[in-house]
Amino acid sequence: MESLRSEAEPSSCNRCGQCMSVCPVYQTTFRETDVARGKLTLLECVEAGTMRWSGRLQEILSRCLLCGACAQVCANRVETTRIIQSGRQRFFEDEKRGESQSAALKSLREGHLTARVLMKGGALLQALACKKIPETSGLHLRFPLSFFTERNTVPPIAWTPFMDAFRPEQAVRGESPRIGFFVGCGTNYLFPHIATALVHILRHVGATLIVPEDQVCCGLPAYVSGDTKTARDLAQKNIEVFESLELDAILTVCASCGSHLMALASLFADDPSSRDAAASMARKHMDAMTFLVNHLGFEAYLKALEPAGSPKGTRPLRVAYHDPCHLRIGQGITQAPRRLLEATPGVQLVEASHPGQCCGHGGDFNLSHFSLSMKILDRRMEDFEKVKPDRIVTGCTGCLLQFAEGISRCSLAGKIEVCHPLALVEKAIAPCPIPVQGRKDLQVCQSLRTDAGQ
Ligand code: SF4
Ligand code: SF4
Repeated sequence: MESLRSEAEPSSCNRCGQCMSVCPVYQTTFRETDVARGKLTLLECVEAGTMRWSGRLQEILSRCLLCGACAQVCANRVETTRIIQSGRQRFFEDEKRGESQSAALKSLREGHLTARVLMKGGALLQALACKKIPETSGLHLRFPLSFFTERNTVPPIAWTPFMDAFRPEQAVRGESPRIGFFVGCGTNYLFPHIATALVHILRHVGATLIVPEDQVCCGLPAYVSGDTKTARDLAQKNIEVFESLELDAILTVCASCGSHLMALASLFADDPSSRDAAASMARKHMDAMTFLVNHLGFEAYLKALEPAGSPKGTRPLRVAYHDPCHLRIGQGITQAPRRLLEATPGVQLVEASHPGQCCGHGGDFNLSHFSLSMKILDRRMEDFEKVKPDRIVTGCTGCLLQFAEGISRCSLAGKIEVCHPLALVEKAIAPCPIPVQGRKDLQVCQSLRTDAGQ
């Protein structure tokens, strides 16, 4: 295991306690070991040899969402999440994870084939053994396996993943920018309609998405569990696949996948043979909502469509947007989704309080610390209960899962739903004829080439 000090110095933490003001875990438990400062202190003791690695320390390191809020406010620029992940890596390498989890990660490494079989099995099991709750949402299903006994809801696993259903169009070489799409596992298997929405939106303005068949999991689940080797193997595969296509941009619709792709260069910081290609893929990555607003001029385009998309007398859909940590902190994006929603015909954006508050999902945190995750979620749900939106809208598949659970636990159960912004945009443009100016707007995409330095 590389030294923790090789990544960043735990000792550069001066114990100021600023991270306590933003840590969602600490603000729920008020335990010193749940905040970055406490974890760094313990890791420093291990580095100094005054403490041993122990199961208790492993448990402490696991009680972190890797949301990055602490690193964002730290005046000493301590790389808290990187150091905590390095500690998890140490435990992963020392103790070798249990077989079932390794098998799941292995299936991701081997591409979608094994995962597809596993997920198909899950879909069959759901169809046989699950009952719907509530009727208004196809997303909320009771899942009776012991693994999910504490949950109220799990989403239906798609019978046909997006990658199986997608029929590619011939990408036009030449003037048009080449836009790739990294789909991600959550989108492919649980929320394929989000990917389909992006395809429909881009086709609406005459753009073609290139969706490489050989893409695999982004590697984030492996990375946060401490399995850096698997995370690198997956990243290598994706870099090979996407870089060979000479794309101008690589879009994602899931904030978690996107933030991991953006950090690819740091994953290979000590590997000169892969670092440049990783940095190149990271540079090309862009969240799809940012692409639509900043590079496609889609905000103005949507506003121009309003008369056709919003019949007179129809009450607008009140939507409250939740900032995923992997978008707000991981990618620095807060305005593009709001601008997209504000421009969408028939949609009224309302702001819930505490817009930067984490939902508590945090990848496998939600699985390994379910009741703590729910306490963080319940606090976030109080913000939405006050504004009573028709939809909670967010751009991360993890947050979508978490809010499906959150809605079922609060006073809004059965009254509201959760969805991705692109699903609303797709619905708004569906009745509209393909506009003549669509292709003209697409010229804005040429700025992509400038951004990418090509
Ligand atoms: S904000 Fe930074 S320097 Fe201050 S206690 Fe937290 S990690 Fe240490
Ligand atoms: S990454 Fe988030 S959950 Fe983890 S210690 Fe920092 S603020 Fe707390």
